[in-house]
Amino acid sequence: QAKARGRNGFSFYAPSMTGEGVERLRLETFLRRSIEKDEIFLNYQPQVEIDTGRLVGVEALVRWNHPELGLIPPIRFIPLAEDTGFINQLGKWVLHEACRQMVRWQEAGLHVPKIAVNLSAKQFERGSIVNMVADILRDTGLEPQRLQLEVTESVIMNTGDAMVFINDLHSIGVALAIDDFGTGYSSLAYLKQLPVETLKIDRSFIKDISTDVNDEAIAIAIIQLGKSMNLSVIAEGVETEEQAAFLLRHGCNMAQGYFYSRPVAADDMLTRWKK
Ligand code: C2E
Ligand code: MG
Ligand code: MG
Ligand code: MG
Repeated sequence: QAKARGRNGFSFYAPSMTGEGVERLRLETFLRRSIEKDEIFLNYQPQVEIDTGRLVGVEALVRWNHPELGLIPPIRFIPLAEDTGFINQLGKWVLHEACRQMVRWQEAGLHVPKIAVNLSAKQFERGSIVNMVADILRDTGLEPQRLQLEVTESVIMNTGDAMVFINDLHSIGVALAIDDFGTGYSSLAYLKQLPVETLKIDRSFIKDISTDVNDEAIAIAIIQLGKSMNLSVIAEGVETEEQAAFLLRHGCNMAQGYFYSRPVAADDMLTRWKK
């Protein structure tokens, strides 16, 4: 490797390549081997019913721990995985691990009603997402009703066949949530046509919910929209008791956020939630 680099240490790369480009390439190379090297794992963030504190589900959140670079946040490697196509392999691994974990918890005596898994637009472009999900459910034995897939508004709006895939996923019994709701281009017409079960209010609206009148108005509007369309609504990024109380007062009884729990390792779910 050192030999290929030449005398000044980096002549191996095209001269136009910036430091950022080199860094990206390095990350890309590492990322491609991350699964086989066992560097990828999941954390789980509880979703709770506000008035009772009952566990209603978890969201699976992918983590990458590289031996040299340390813990790399998903905002840094998910876009990279999407650009390189690695997201298909990664997404499949995440889904499989998430479903398997639900069964493991069950066997350990913890019933987690449902698990939410994030999907990228690129995973829809690949085509056979429905078969992949069906295979994983069969392989792990998880009931389809206990899996909820999260997509953003832009995935729905910008992916040609997303409507078809989403309907297919619904037909095998898998639930769908719209993530970061309110931040994308929502088409209420789409929302009406899609078999969506849940809206997730983006955490940017929750942050200043009791001080910013606009955020307050948006959050209330989303809760009302969900109610009138018969959808469940969950708030993301709930960090304070005040925010939770506000939500409850306005008819949103489900929340996820640091106030309840940070994303945790699978075993920590048992410690905290197993009766
Ligand atoms: P997201 O799906 O909207 O996930 C929620 C993010 O908000 C998580 O960040 C979570 O740790 C964070 N969060 C939860 N509660 C709070 C809170 O009270 N305060 C604050 N400040 N943050 C909170 P994380 O884990 O860094 O993930 C970031 C994004 O990366 C996710 O946003 C999702 O878009 C993406 N992502 C994570 N895992 C996956 C995955 O397996 N597949 C795909 N395609 N994307 C993923
Ligand atoms: Mg999500
Ligand atoms: Mg979100
Ligand atoms: Mg988000």
